[in-house]
Amino acid sequence: MASLPNSTDVLVVGAGPTGLMLAVELARRGIDYLLIDEVEAPSTFIKGSVVSSRTLEIFEELGIFEEARKLGTVVHAVVLWAEGRRAMTGDMALLDAPHAYNLHLGQPYTEQLLTTRLLSEGGSIHRQVRLADFDLQGDRVVASLEAPEGECKLQASWIVGCDGAHSTVRQKLGFHLEGQTYPVDYMLANLKIEWNQPHDEIQLFFTREGSFTVNPLPDGLTQVAGDLPHEEGDNRTKTSPTLQDVQELFDRRVAIPARLYEPRRLVYYRSHRRQVVQRIMGRAILAGDAAHLVSPQTGLGMNTGLQDSWNLGWKLAAVVKGEADASILESYQEERQAVLGPLAKMSDTDEMLYSLQSRVAQELRDHVVMAALHFEPFWRRNVKDITQIGVNYRGLSSFDEYVATPLHLPGKHIVESGRCTKAWMAFGRGPRAGERVPDARPVTRDGISNERLLPFSSQGRHVLLLFTAAADPSKTVCEALAECATLARKWLDDRVCVELVVPSDAVPEACRQIGVDRTVFDVERAAHDRFGALAESVYFCRCDGFVGFRSLPPNAEALGKWFDTVKFVAS
Ligand SMILES: Cc1cc2nc3c(=O)[nH]c(=O)nc-3n(C[C@H](O)[C@H](O)[C@H](O)COP(=O)(O)OP(=O)(O)OC[C@H]3O[C@@H](n4cnc5c(N)ncnc54)[C@H](O)[C@@H]3O)c2cc1C
Repeated sequence: MASLPNSTDVLVVGAGPTGLMLAVELARRGIDYLLIDEVEAPSTFIKGSVVSSRTLEIFEELGIFEEARKLGTVVHAVVLWAEGRRAMTGDMALLDAPHAYNLHLGQPYTEQLLTTRLLSEGGSIHRQVRLADFDLQGDRVVASLEAPEGECKLQASWIVGCDGAHSTVRQKLGFHLEGQTYPVDYMLANLKIEWNQPHDEIQLFFTREGSFTVNPLPDGLTQVAGDLPHEEGDNRTKTSPTLQDVQELFDRRVAIPARLYEPRRLVYYRSHRRQVVQRIMGRAILAGDAAHLVSPQTGLGMNTGLQDSWNLGWKLAAVVKGEADASILESYQEERQAVLGPLAKMSDTDEMLYSLQSRVAQELRDHVVMAALHFEPFWRRNVKDITQIGVNYRGLSSFDEYVATPLHLPGKHIVESGRCTKAWMAFGRGPRAGERVPDARPVTRDGISNERLLPFSSQGRHVLLLFTAAADPSKTVCEALAECATLARKWLDDRVCVELVVPSDAVPEACRQIGVDRTVFDVERAAHDRFGALAESVYFCRCDGFVGFRSLPPNAEALGKWFDTVKFVAS
């Protein structure tokens, strides 16, 4: 392994999923970083298994989706059993997303995929290197590292603690994980199962005694887990359960006969819902489990850490390169903390439903909650939560939109389309600022038909979508779109990819003067409809897949003001 340097721009502490994702994001943007981990080799224990639909979109953007899909097990449905009866099957297929499922992959595979991606960028991981201490000294960090060859000092411009639940970085900052440890002990085992159930569903069994989960894993493995009866949890003397313990719990709670065998890992655990209030102090930043913990029942702890790094990576890279003011990082704090609110609620609800003791409460769960889940809008909302497709930053300070009211839409709209109010209402149905950029199909791009609008294949760049709405837009419309394109280039240069979206199969004459990177031919108006672009409009899609700004009609002045608010530095 290469020897340690004595300085770097970003010291990333911890090569778990969060640290690896951050390193990939920094590496592909050409940032000088150092990724260290105290352990010699990654763990082979499958803790996290679920890769959410939203994380899969990120994997797609990184070019590791296909490999993940090959290795993992697609899970289409959640099946709930109450007292031996199959009470509800929640199908994820109704999700409006390219991947209407979660992928059960296993954390070691996720880490391996990210490691391979990192190596493909020429990146590396320094293992058996422990962060012992660090000092924040103005605009630099001085870290003390312990490596096999001895102790050394390293200077960095930034330190990011991706060092897990017992984070050294967090402790040195004096930050605390506030929240609670749930008062329930769980038994968990990764093993093989012989039964007559399909391998593409999560099965949850609720009984009077407690609950039990059967979770598909790759390689023909299954993860099973159940809460322990209180007296058993309190009086437990063993450090880990035996296969027989797990089989007995299974037999008591699961309505279907099965043989459990070839255990790989058997553990007891307790879970937590905790988070820091503040993620940033000076040049030190926290991400992943170092900043938040949720119940494993949500299946979203690792996913949330990955998405922390996805949010932080491009911003930190922009700051290091002088392309954004350091205050842009405040949006990392604001956006990622906002996501934790609904996640904490989900964590509490899951824990509560799994470990209900009172008979009345169990009856309510088994009848009222199940009945509610049969109500499609309720299930649809739930699916958005468990797949993270519903994660959004609506209303936060880094997002804005300019929407002229029908009365104030310029006269050209009325003259050209004669559907001013309709255009306004349609735009209201498009993705709002702060929401995830949706996909649309079919479009034709780079000569390939029946393509999806996502992924943009923009290689980490932001995307400005210019919707012409009409197949033959007027010169005035094209000038307004061109003004937005020019402004975006002025601010972001080649960090933005400008795409013209036309509802025809040829570039309209009047649009030829707009400087664009690509044209999307949206003959069937799939993209126009999905974005509510009945009239000409623009969408600025942040490189992390959220609508940063949108405008109906195109308004370069409002777009410029937004660039300034976001703290980009004009090129
Ligand atoms: C039973 C169970 C099931 C779970 N299921 C899921 C699931 O299905 N889906 C999901 O999304 N999440 C799940 N999770 C949560 C998931 O495992 C964690 O959220 C995830 O591991 C957090 O990743 P991380 O990179 O932030 O931290 P970690 O994975 O903890 O990585 C931290 C790294 O930092 C290193 N480190 C620590 N201190 C130092 C130091 N001082 N110097 C150098 N290196 C250091 C460690 O060696 C480690 O490699 C589950 C968790 C459990 C316990």
